[in-house]
Amino acid sequence: MKTDVFIAGGGVGGLALAVKLAERGVHVVVAEQLTKESPVYKGELLQPKTLAILERLGVIEDIEDCGHPIDQLRFQEVTTHVDEPPEEVSLTEMNYSRVASRFDHALMVPHEKTKAILRKKGEFYDQYFHYYPGYRFKGFENGQAKIKKKRETINIEAKVYVGAEGRSSPTRDAMNVKVKRKDYNHHFLTVTIPRPATFNKGKIITSPDRFLGLFPLPEDEVRTVYLIKAGEYKSIKEKGLEFLYQAYSELEPELSEGVRSIDDWKTVQLMIPFTYHVDSYYSGNLVLIGDAAHTVHPMAGEGMNLAIQDADVLGELLAWCKEESKPYHQYLHYYEDVRKSRVEFLLHLSHLSALVYSYHFEWWRNLRMNAVQRMLEDDQLHVKQMLNISGLGRWDFSWVDRAVQGGFLPVRKRVISDHKQHKFLFSEKEDYPWKRSNRKDGSHE
Ligand SMILES: Cc1cc2nc3c(=O)[nH]c(=O)nc-3n(C[C@H](O)[C@H](O)[C@H](O)COP(=O)(O)OP(=O)(O)OC[C@H]3O[C@@H](n4cnc5c(N)ncnc54)[C@H](O)[C@@H]3O)c2cc1C
Repeated sequence: MKTDVFIAGGGVGGLALAVKLAERGVHVVVAEQLTKESPVYKGELLQPKTLAILERLGVIEDIEDCGHPIDQLRFQEVTTHVDEPPEEVSLTEMNYSRVASRFDHALMVPHEKTKAILRKKGEFYDQYFHYYPGYRFKGFENGQAKIKKKRETINIEAKVYVGAEGRSSPTRDAMNVKVKRKDYNHHFLTVTIPRPATFNKGKIITSPDRFLGLFPLPEDEVRTVYLIKAGEYKSIKEKGLEFLYQAYSELEPELSEGVRSIDDWKTVQLMIPFTYHVDSYYSGNLVLIGDAAHTVHPMAGEGMNLAIQDADVLGELLAWCKEESKPYHQYLHYYEDVRKSRVEFLLHLSHLSALVYSYHFEWWRNLRMNAVQRMLEDDQLHVKQMLNISGLGRWDFSWVDRAVQGGFLPVRKRVISDHKQHKFLFSEKEDYPWKRSNRKDGSHE
């Protein structure tokens, strides 16, 4: 079988890429090993830049219909007491509306719904979109991709092969790139439970030694993420579900009824955070996107967004190559040029957010609380944080910012104008820089 682009893996990244290519008249084959919905919880928080991309893919209305908007992130520090409501020590609300964009919120959408919407959109371009469910990509044979379903094997010859298989990637193995993994001192338990209709804001509740992230989903559900020490899962499970009921109720009494809907540990997923970032995103005509290229600590809710943002840039590049009759492999460096440093930046931000919640000391909590509070009081810090996590732009923190955040310099009174922010939002030229270049060989200008 012959195609323009072969994609191994029909997760959010692979599907977003396939839809973009099919829409632009590029033939694409997607091999996905699963035939039905995955029972595994995965990313659900769609950041503003991702919403902008989904709008361009023509699926934003369907996505919004299945989503719960998150316009602010609330950080609540509490002191807990057994059988008594928690005592609020501080509450800080960071607002997406500080970002100068019409995409001024994030959206919580069940992961499988996002995938189903993208698949349906792909099928709309059935002349170009060829989806193979139940087919596992096994690697390369004679320069062709080999996919297998039970006893049937298909060899696919493509101009570009994309590894979108997530963390375990045969394409990455074939590229021989370096992967350096970083682990953390904590793990998470994650489970979706019912919520009261009035509980509709994203919230992170912390005490000196506990962390509970709560992200409302549609249909009166909430995705919960509870931090435990690395290696503690077995002993917690032995304590029984009563442990979870009590922990959740002490931190958020509004969910004390919802948490009791968990009737089996099987619904509670252990999530082990780690990060890595490959040293190269492409080799010859093989390319990596999403978790195949990088995995991010989940604290800042970026993993799925990075995958879709990779797909957007790579998709635009490959579609342009086809439209302009340019040799794909000579232009792949543009994809890496745009995405690698942005991903590196967000990996670092997520890592810092993880560190903030990694140590269980009262003094560490005080530092964290003050740093979060100053982020709200100092508009430049507030804008930078929200702009950076939104994916819409990049505005690096300076040493002055960090000194203000650490309390070594006073909070600045200046309010950041939209005009000032616009310099830091990614322009189309920055997202797709090859369009400026007409060099035949695709080399850097
Ligand atoms: C528990 C958990 C919670 C998370 N929470 C968040 C969050 O809140 N926010 C966020 O942004 N991110 C979150 N993430 C990360 C996010 O889910 C991933 O970053 C994102 O799904 C990556 O997308 P992807 O398309 O690159 O890979 P994946 O989503 O992993 O998709 C890869 C696809 O390839 C298929 N596949 C794998 N190998 C093969 C093969 N050999 N042949 C054919 N098919 C194959 C898989 O079945 C899968 O469908 C979370 C991840 C986990 C595990």
